[in-house]
Amino acid sequence: MAKIELRQIRKSYDRYVAVENLDLDIIDGEFLVMLGPSGCGKTTTLNMIAGLDYPSQGQILFDGRDVTAEPPHGRNVAMVFQSSLLYPHLTVRKNIEASLRHSKLSKAERAQRIADAARMLELEPMLDKLPSQMSGGQRQRAATAKAIVREPACFLLDEPLSALDAALRLSLRSELVNLQKRLGTTAVFVTHDQVEAMTMGDRIAVMSKGNLEQIGTPDEIYNQPASLFVATFLGSPPMNVVAGAISNGVFHAGPVAIDLAGRGIPNGPVSLGVRPQHVTVTAPDAPGAIPVTVYALEHLGRESVVIGDDATGNKLRALVDPGFHARIGDRLGIAPEAGACFFFGADGRRIAVSSSPA
Ligand code: ATP
Repeated sequence: MAKIELRQIRKSYDRYVAVENLDLDIIDGEFLVMLGPSGCGKTTTLNMIAGLDYPSQGQILFDGRDVTAEPPHGRNVAMVFQSSLLYPHLTVRKNIEASLRHSKLSKAERAQRIADAARMLELEPMLDKLPSQMSGGQRQRAATAKAIVREPACFLLDEPLSALDAALRLSLRSELVNLQKRLGTTAVFVTHDQVEAMTMGDRIAVMSKGNLEQIGTPDEIYNQPASLFVATFLGSPPMNVVAGAISNGVFHAGPVAIDLAGRGIPNGPVSLGVRPQHVTVTAPDAPGAIPVTVYALEHLGRESVVIGDDATGNKLRALVDPGFHARIGDRLGIAPEAGACFFFGADGRRIAVSSSPA
């Protein structure tokens, strides 16, 4: 078990800054997901926690102990990668055993550890198979067994599911979380997939361009996004964003007017964000509705998404009943529910939640 603290971490490669001002407290026993688009610094951060890379500035503490300059083996962490390495010429049993080669365990203790790991990951029937005789999911489970058999203080997982097909990803998602909860081992899981993050994380750390945008539970990140970046990165279909302005306490964007008086918001440009489940589809000229031209209708089974272009070419999405009918080119209106709107300032930070329509 380990509590991990990152203090004012900065990592630069020559003049390129990959991670900056990063303060992160990873709670003992939690499943923390680091989420962000490609190149935002997730892997760099994970590698610094592992000791595979070293910060240019800042400190890393494991249970209060400064490990910033320590090599990986001084930290007792186990890494699982996207295409985790199994020795192709060794059976699963030998592959798992290879993780224990530097340990001081007796032969009997090793055998017990391997048996426990194989049981947890349901690999018992496969222990004598070679990696080439197994499916992708089985190989990933074998790689996970290699990681858990050492009983590390922390698991570091770098997109371990992204090379697998969709069905397998889905089942391994819950398997991994279930295993982590049974073991109680701190886990840091890197992904760019927001569904993985929402379904797996006790908390999610959202990163953008080398900075931590927000850290919180999936519920906090989704329902109280700190920035436009977080708001639009999480949620499917994505949040609608409408550019507008505050004038005397009222938000205006074309026909949309939402009274935010009493919130002390200064005049100036502001973006409105509203999720597709919080808009109403109306006639194009209905009061408070943004006129759109239907661009696509996507059927999701239990519901559909109608996508429309507004006058500026901005795409707006509305969740509708599966029986909803519209043709490409039809004219509709999309009206945000005032009480469900988020507002973001010119700096991208969230500034207020609306009260009532003007
Ligand atoms: P992905 O999801 O694509 O792996 P990521 O969020 O994990 O992205 P990192 O791999 O941490 O991103 O990389 C962050 C930035 O640092 C990238 O722009 C990358 O090009 C740069 N970078 C990473 N490693 C090095 C290196 N060894 N030398 C120079 N630049 C690097």
